[in-house]
Amino acid sequence: MEPQPTEARRYAAGMNDWIERDATRVWHGFTQMATFPLQEPVIVDRAEGRELIDNEGRRYFDAISSLWVTTLGHHVPDLDAALTDQLGKVAHTTLLGNGNRAVIELCEALARVVPLNDPHFLFASDGASAVEQALKCALQYWRNIGLEEKSGFLALRDAYHGDTIGALSLGDGFHSEHFDRLRFPVLRAAGYATPGWAEQACSMIASNAERLAAVVIEPLVQAAGGMQIARPDEVRMLAECCRENGVLLICDEVATGFGRTGSLFASRRCGIQPDLLVLGKGITGGYLPMSATVVSGRVYLAFMGEDLGPRTFYHGHSYGGNALAAAVATRHLELLVEWNVLANVEARSKELAQLLDERIAPLRAVTGVRLCGLLGGVELAPWISARAVCSEAVRRGVLLRSLGQVVPLVPPLTTTSEELERVVSVLEQAIAAVGENGADG
Ligand SMILES: *Cc1c(COP(=O)(O)O)cnc(C)c1O
Repeated sequence: MEPQPTEARRYAAGMNDWIERDATRVWHGFTQMATFPLQEPVIVDRAEGRELIDNEGRRYFDAISSLWVTTLGHHVPDLDAALTDQLGKVAHTTLLGNGNRAVIELCEALARVVPLNDPHFLFASDGASAVEQALKCALQYWRNIGLEEKSGFLALRDAYHGDTIGALSLGDGFHSEHFDRLRFPVLRAAGYATPGWAEQACSMIASNAERLAAVVIEPLVQAAGGMQIARPDEVRMLAECCRENGVLLICDEVATGFGRTGSLFASRRCGIQPDLLVLGKGITGGYLPMSATVVSGRVYLAFMGEDLGPRTFYHGHSYGGNALAAAVATRHLELLVEWNVLANVEARSKELAQLLDERIAPLRAVTGVRLCGLLGGVELAPWISARAVCSEAVRRGVLLRSLGQVVPLVPPLTTTSEELERVVSVLEQAIAAVGENGADG
């Protein structure tokens, strides 16, 4: 029999009042609500550092950085202070036609570090919205310079760029077929999991250059696509191919940006300069919803024209450039440097790689281990439930959330050696516990 929401709620009633109240009214993203209470949900009350604390005082190490957004940890005194300082001035004012000091300061700070020539910043609130902005910018760029026929996009297999319609059109998988009638067609090249993907993409770009507006990639790591990792020289080859063929390159660094892969931006690590860069997730250290589409001076200049004229970019979000988020984002950028966070990512990444190599990769249930900086995942064999493994880990105090058959490991960038040890031990125990119970947990 199909589980009914009411039944799930009745089950929840016996265990935890907050889970029942949650299941009664909250609709969680990417979650089957009929079975939600059975999936070991953690109802967070507060957090300290890298640990979440639930309503009953239990502690969980946040090994997914709250879906890859948290960088320095939770409840960071310096970020809290930046937020309350800004709150003492103003929380939000519109960026449509008017400015805000907090936003100007953030843009100046970002301009010094993003891998683009003469960068300009257009803000939104979610990664997906910033992807939409990038698509519209790329399309109108060609229109503004009189090459309207360049209107297509090339994206990769296993790509994930968010859940709004344009982002969903670029994406591949994640049950997006439900929305096929809304999605626009894109040229699809192989993803990072396919050897020779870059050569294949390049030949598609070369033969479709006159109708391509842009190529969209997640540089270095296809994160939601199962933590598939590319070689930097392959990404560079693709970038060069875009340049040679007069096609814009959009780098979606929503997941890889702000130190996640060990450099501030993965594009830098690959030695490339995109024409458009998409930022989100870690931009505020995981504090507030903020995203940005960054465009190079060349793209930006194509939008200059007369007041109210056709070259204007007719797009803007109500909360784009929120002052609270901007103040936190600026302080966050400083802290990444002051705390030498990139060095920690490098050192912890090596340790994590070794721990996984020694204790996880040899397990019969494990078919692959992938890691780039502190962005990684453990792929499990089809016979073991990745979902059940994550539930077992949560019971042992480490918050994990499966992604198909992959268990993503995305700890905060300030994670310590001891915490990595804890994550890997718990993962090992969780795999053993589910493995003993057989195929379904
Ligand atoms: C998460 C993600 C997005 C979407 O960001 P949202 O803030 O969830 O809309 C886009 N691109 C990549 C690469 C992502 O990982």
